[in-house]
Amino acid sequence: MDKKTLKDVELAGRRVIMRVDFNVPIKGGVISDDTRVQAALPSIRHVLEKGASLVLMSHLGRPKGKGYEADFSLKPVAAHLAQVLGRPVAFAADCLAADAEVAALKPGEVLLLENTRFHKEEEAKVKKTDEMTDAEYKDQKAALKEKQQAMAQKLASYGDVFVNDAFGSAHRAHASTAVICKYIGTCVAGFLMEKEIQYLGNAVENPDRPFVAILGGAKVSDKLAVVNRLLDKVDTLIIGGGMAYTFLKAQGHEVGNSLCELDQLDYAREMIAKAQANGRQLLLPVDNIAADKFDAAAATQVVGNDIPAGWMALDIGPETIKVYAAAIQGAKTVVWNGPMGCFEMKPFAAGTLGVCQAVAASGATSIIGGGDSVSAVNQSGLAAHMTHISTGGGASLEFLEGKELPGVAALNDK
Ligand code: AMP
Repeated sequence: MDKKTLKDVELAGRRVIMRVDFNVPIKGGVISDDTRVQAALPSIRHVLEKGASLVLMSHLGRPKGKGYEADFSLKPVAAHLAQVLGRPVAFAADCLAADAEVAALKPGEVLLLENTRFHKEEEAKVKKTDEMTDAEYKDQKAALKEKQQAMAQKLASYGDVFVNDAFGSAHRAHASTAVICKYIGTCVAGFLMEKEIQYLGNAVENPDRPFVAILGGAKVSDKLAVVNRLLDKVDTLIIGGGMAYTFLKAQGHEVGNSLCELDQLDYAREMIAKAQANGRQLLLPVDNIAADKFDAAAATQVVGNDIPAGWMALDIGPETIKVYAAAIQGAKTVVWNGPMGCFEMKPFAAGTLGVCQAVAASGATSIIGGGDSVSAVNQSGLAAHMTHISTGGGASLEFLEGKELPGVAALNDK
């Protein structure tokens, strides 16, 4: 890790402003999964134990950016955090009007700010509408960017050390994740951020071999860059899920009504050729579970690599599970992003579960990223067998693509 971390800064008596990822699933004020809160605790406890005061900020969900919305309030998270920390957590109802609450904080005390995304300038995203001229769009974007700087400056005024522990938001250049670093001299990574980057970075740059990557999920177009880069790094690339059928079609197979991106066929052919040229093994399904409709109650059949007309492949088949499990069995490093089928529906969950069991049994260093693969692993009850479960879906994918994450890039170099 070439960025400074929490261990590199003196904290006693200082005021820390920390970006965390408290984007937890919440309904009617009840948090159904507090993994992300738990994941931030090591950094939070460290700051408090070292005698600093702590201002926490986060986004939650996708509010409209026009002020308070009860469904997206972080207030219940403050109460939950107080419970798990065993100490009071103050709450400021507007993240940009928290001067009094911040001033009242003493060393060892914590304050959570309300959802940063209640302010549009956090993301500073402008959607171009049909009525908007190019000039208007440009002007609106520039105006919002200016407001974003002001927001970042305000947030920066709450602390003298900035800690970014929100790996899940590190691929976004938002006011609270990256822009804030323009206005605070000391900007460091939290322990969760450090851990995520170490695991993902090591896996890609310095893996124990054989290194097997497993990619799945719906679309090839979401994973173009990652397929390309991983073919420079891995020994074996396993492809499953909806994205596999674009590859099968590119090889000349019939895919019926399966997901298939016709505009990516050339890309798929290029990747198949690249794997061959690089001497990498690229594994595609050899059989599939086909359904007559996209429904848990659909009629199903196991088919080979030509999907009958009118049918759609919604999972990899039993032979494919065996082939993939055999490749995973010998691995020393596994990176997995994206399910092998529509695992949310029971008849199409076996492929994802089979891969999950193979990864768990392999003894390899295993790194799981992407919301769906993480929930599949959690559902399987095998989470404890994985080495690292990433808290950031999009961020881990962009990291694997080799992109610089703005929230990391903005931190102080070592
Ligand atoms: P992604 O967000 O790209 O990781 O895609 C995850 C989604 O892909 C999940 O909701 C799966 O149900 C879906 N998916 C996986 N395999 C298939 C498939 N063969 N056909 C359609 N959808 C799929």
